[in-house]
Amino acid sequence: MRKPVIAGNWKMHKTSAEALAFFRALKAAKETTDVETVICAPFTALPALVEAAKDSGIGIGAQNMHWEEKGAFTGEISPVMLKDLGVQYVILGHSERRSYFAETDETVNKKVHAAFAHDLIPIVCVGETLEEREAGQTKQVVGQQVEKALAGLSSEQVKRVIIAYEPVWAIGSGKASTADDAQEVIGFIRKMVANQYDQQVANEVRVQYGGSVKPDNIGAFLDQPDIDGALVGGASLEPESFDRLVTAS
Ligand code: PEP
Repeated sequence: MRKPVIAGNWKMHKTSAEALAFFRALKAAKETTDVETVICAPFTALPALVEAAKDSGIGIGAQNMHWEEKGAFTGEISPVMLKDLGVQYVILGHSERRSYFAETDETVNKKVHAAFAHDLIPIVCVGETLEEREAGQTKQVVGQQVEKALAGLSSEQVKRVIIAYEPVWAIGSGKASTADDAQEVIGFIRKMVANQYDQQVANEVRVQYGGSVKPDNIGAFLDQPDIDGALVGGASLEPESFDRLVTAS
């Protein structure tokens, strides 16, 4: 049985004080143990959140990192620095990083390896653009992103990766994928993992759906056999809404 993961991606929202106020207001998310709950916050809010989340059962994640431990990379944050803060998860390859900051499948792969080298759980984002979907290239694009992101990982590592299938056209648009379409792509991802590794690994790897998930539509995604939770942007910003996402799971 795979445990569903509900992860909030706050993007560039919330100061430390706002993050703490959010955390204090959470209710159900702190009480639920059958869902893995994660908040991925801006770097500056991570120390306050890690401290507040101690013993709460809620995991704290970053939204990006560099793959090197240290060096002349002005403005970057390393896995060692995240680990030093007590962060447990890191989102890698989000479509906004890919499109605005030139993230590639190769850099995502380096970061995934760096995450494991430092005992961080990577949440690896993949997904097709609207143009690619309309050209019938969804599985080809997503398949390639998954294959490249996971290249060189051991079976044990792949079992611990969280893959987030996020069609680019669904992110922040209010137009979520249908649950059936998301299931089709996520089922395909699982089959790919079975071919690349084995059925046991494919049975254990968790694959979330992301893209305009709200408390009202999350149930339909989680009813699908291959969908193991959600990566949620906008609807993760308010504590009541985040609580509802977790209780609906
Ligand atoms: C995201 O940022 O990963 C995301 C899915 O955003 P939203 O839920 O707002 O579409």
